[in-house]
Amino acid sequence: MTEPSVAEARDAILSRIAAAAIAAFRSPEDVALVAVSKQQPDDKINAMLAAGQRLFGENRVQEAQARWRERRATVPHLRLRLVGPLQSNKADDAVALFDAIDSLDRPKLAAALANAAQKLGRCPDVLIQVNTGEEPQKAGVSPEEADAFVKAAREVYGLTVGGLMCIPPVDEPPAPHFALLAKIAKRNDLRELSMGMSEDFETAIRFGATQVRIGSALFGSRGSAEISKT
Ligand SMILES: *Cc1c(COP(=O)(O)O)cnc(C)c1O
Repeated sequence: MTEPSVAEARDAILSRIAAAAIAAFRSPEDVALVAVSKQQPDDKINAMLAAGQRLFGENRVQEAQARWRERRATVPHLRLRLVGPLQSNKADDAVALFDAIDSLDRPKLAAALANAAQKLGRCPDVLIQVNTGEEPQKAGVSPEEADAFVKAAREVYGLTVGGLMCIPPVDEPPAPHFALLAKIAKRNDLRELSMGMSEDFETAIRFGATQVRIGSALFGSRGSAEISKT
C-alpha cells in the first residue's frame, strides 16, 4: 500500500475534526488545524501549502526560521505559532517570526515578550501553557498558579492573552487534563484552547479545543528523532 498524499492526509484530518466537532454540538469552523511542521522535509511542507494549509506550528525558533523566513515573504496569509518552549533570550527572534506564542509560562518570559513587542512594533497573540499534570520535566505554570499568572501577563506585562495550552502526560488518559484546562480558561474569560495532538485531538475537541496541534498524523512520522515533550 502506498502512503496517502499530504493533501489526502489533510482532508482526512479535517474530516475527523469536523466529525468530532459536530459530535460535540460544536461548529467545525470553531476548531483550527495547526499543522505541526517540525522536522518535516521541504517537499511535504510545500505539498501542505499547495493543499491550502496556512496555519503551522513549530517548536524551535531556529528551525522555524530556516523553514519559514523566506516562505513568509511569498506565501500570503501564512500564520505561524510557536508551540514549543521559548528561552527569554530568543524572545526577539520569536516575536519577529511568529504570529503567536503558545508557551508563555513565566514572568521573565512575559517581560521579554513585552519588551520584544515594543521594540519590534509587533504584538504576537499569546497563550499560557499550563502544566496540567504537574510534571517536573514539563514546561507550563501549575494549575494553581494559572489564574494569578493570567492576570499578571495581562496587567503587569500588557500582553494579549488569548487562551491556554497544555500537553497532557503521555501515560495518562488525556480527558481530565483537557477538562481542567477548559475550566481554567472559562473562569479567566479566555477563548482559545490549544489542546489535542495526533493521538487525542478528537477527545480534546469534545472538551472544547479551539486549536488542535497535529504533526505525525498529517505529515507522517518524524522518524527516530522524537518530539521534545517539554
Ligand atoms: C510535536 C508537537 C505536536 C504534534 O505532535 P504529533 O503527536 O506528531 O501530532 C503538538 N504539540 C507540540 C507542543 C509538539 O511539540
